[in-house]
Amino acid sequence: MSYVFAAPATPSVEVVGRADRFPVHRVYCVGRNYEAHAREMGHDSREAPFFFFKPATAIIASGSELPYPPKTNDLHYEMELVVALKSGGTDIPVDGALEHVFGYAPGLDMTRRDLQSEARKAGRPWETGKSFESAAPCGAIRPVEETGHPDSASIWLKVNGETRQNGDIAELIWNVPEVISHLSGLFTLRAGDLIYTGTPAGVSAVGPGDTLLGGIDGIGEIEVRIV
Ligand code: MN
Repeated sequence: MSYVFAAPATPSVEVVGRADRFPVHRVYCVGRNYEAHAREMGHDSREAPFFFFKPATAIIASGSELPYPPKTNDLHYEMELVVALKSGGTDIPVDGALEHVFGYAPGLDMTRRDLQSEARKAGRPWETGKSFESAAPCGAIRPVEETGHPDSASIWLKVNGETRQNGDIAELIWNVPEVISHLSGLFTLRAGDLIYTGTPAGVSAVGPGDTLLGGIDGIGEIEVRIV
């Protein structure tokens, strides 16, 4: 195959304990999937899960510097459990969904909250708020052979050493198999897909010089510095 210019490299994520990397196909994100976070964003019921995309090119590794993005005065972190798929399909039943999971990672759904809020009010798409450069930091993926399929684990985030988010993945409104099943009814899932599963309460603004350190017990940690 030849191209009219050099094709960009495939975005990928490190895998714990392996030299081979996880090549990323799509990045799906679940909105509003912890009750306390739904409440802090002004919602309070168990609605069907909803999704948005980030480009795979928005992924940056743990340890990266994240340049403060343009056109915002309200950059927020959202600490999330990321599910990495090794296979996919359509209309996947809930009770078979976990067979498609390659592993789990800690991730950050970085958000230009002011642009997201404007878009939401105007009934417009969320890309300006959610899908900018470096908006999807993702730590190393830990394979299921090591993690199993955790249904409870502490998920936390510190800014400059101070705890800002402290939840448990047991609080997910739509759990991992339900999210995979629902998503596969809307899209054809594939090996290489990442799913950011939503954030617990405690989101807030960060700025240049701030260091974000997040973790999920049994899965791993992620650290980025805003510059
Ligand atoms: Mn999120």
